[in-house]
Amino acid sequence: MSMKYISTRGQSAPMGFQDAVMTGLAADGGLLIPQSIPDVTGRLQEWAELPYRELAFQLTGLFTDIPPDDLKKLISLSYESFRHPEVTPLVRAGDLRILELFHGPTLAFKDVALQWLGNLFEYILSRSGHHLNILAATSGDTGSAAIYGVRGRQHIHIFVMHPAGRTSPTQERQMTAVLDDNVFNIAVSGTFDDCQNIMKSIFRDVEFKTRHALGAVNSVNWARVLAQIVYYFYAGLKVMREEGCPEISFSVPTGNFGDILAGWYAARMGLPVKRLILATNENDILSRFFNTGTYSLGQVVPTLSPSMDIQVASNFERYLYYRIGEDSERLRALMHEFDQTGALSIPLAPGEAVEPLFTAGTGTTADTLSVIGRYHREHGYLLDPHTAVGIAVGERLRKRGEPLICLATAHPAKFSKAILDATGSDLAHHELLDRLADAPTRCKSLPASEQAIRDFIVQNAL
Ligand SMILES: *Cc1c(COP(=O)(O)O)cnc(C)c1O
Repeated sequence: MSMKYISTRGQSAPMGFQDAVMTGLAADGGLLIPQSIPDVTGRLQEWAELPYRELAFQLTGLFTDIPPDDLKKLISLSYESFRHPEVTPLVRAGDLRILELFHGPTLAFKDVALQWLGNLFEYILSRSGHHLNILAATSGDTGSAAIYGVRGRQHIHIFVMHPAGRTSPTQERQMTAVLDDNVFNIAVSGTFDDCQNIMKSIFRDVEFKTRHALGAVNSVNWARVLAQIVYYFYAGLKVMREEGCPEISFSVPTGNFGDILAGWYAARMGLPVKRLILATNENDILSRFFNTGTYSLGQVVPTLSPSMDIQVASNFERYLYYRIGEDSERLRALMHEFDQTGALSIPLAPGEAVEPLFTAGTGTTADTLSVIGRYHREHGYLLDPHTAVGIAVGERLRKRGEPLICLATAHPAKFSKAILDATGSDLAHHELLDRLADAPTRCKSLPASEQAIRDFIVQNAL
């Protein structure tokens, strides 16, 4: 029997994988999660030497209702656009292992999930004869990765809101220089959270959502989390084999809690994960939560790692659901409390950790710059600022000699200004980005108003 998906808020009927992919956010406002988490402990040995695509096929097969031959094709199509044969290669820098997740078409880790999601959408729509209007909110990297996942597709229009002037100029150009007719960029005068709140509110209007066949690609889509589980297994099994260690830790720079949530699922499925080191920048709602049990809104401050400048982590609800014993009623109460007051708390006994598997900390702007400078000097390796946050916190919280894989989430050339500030030289370039400098662009500017966004969608939807 194939996996069914339920809502964290417990008020939507269970559905199959393809429906879950097309639904995005559940109708009751919750996030879709698999009804059970498969235990793969018995498969680890056999999986340890599989190439990436094979491993992806084995893992995703546990969660999907797609016939095996089709699934295989979808996976190979999705990773064809990656410029490295291993898809997500590991490199060494000092005694750290760095997992490079940025070899996709937009040079950020979100391609791993969004190339796959774009192909999934196309597969499902071409079978049903339906069409889809994607609505997305981005703090930078999601937008371009989503656009590259679906550009030029016949049955899909995509609307991407980004906070005007708050993404890096390169990130903005990567989105607005895509001129395909099915791509609609919107510069919203507001923050990323404004964009995300508008998106969530529009998705809560089930009638509007249905009438315009709206779907999501934001990290709430289960298929994205699923694609990300794969590289934890790939890298974890590889390093454990090479180092002969029985357990492995990961350090993950975090914003929306999507990437690290995939690591948490991998651990729950049986990957021997010792610890997940959660690293935030100064926008530290998640690290405060894992250190205190209180999840409370702060002000969004702009940093060198803009894709983590987030105060409401859209995937957090999935984790919270499991943390409170899969109790949807209590989850609804907690999320209601958070909506009303901007805070929620988990009761903790004295000395009790929120989660033994997690350890969390903050990498400041100063940490980011100094880590980039030091890795360049000592190891000849350039880190993008998001990766640098993960490494700063990873180095601080790791136990002596603990084997550690640090997730590298973007190519440094995407954030060349930070590299210049950290090293004193303009070192970070990539031909894909250099070519964008004088490319023509297209983008609509709109106020941070739900009505304005709705009107624009109505005018331009398929
Ligand atoms: C999105 C992003 C992150 C944060 O990932 P989450 O899944 O939101 O935690 C980190 N680094 C880069 C470069 C990103 O694009």
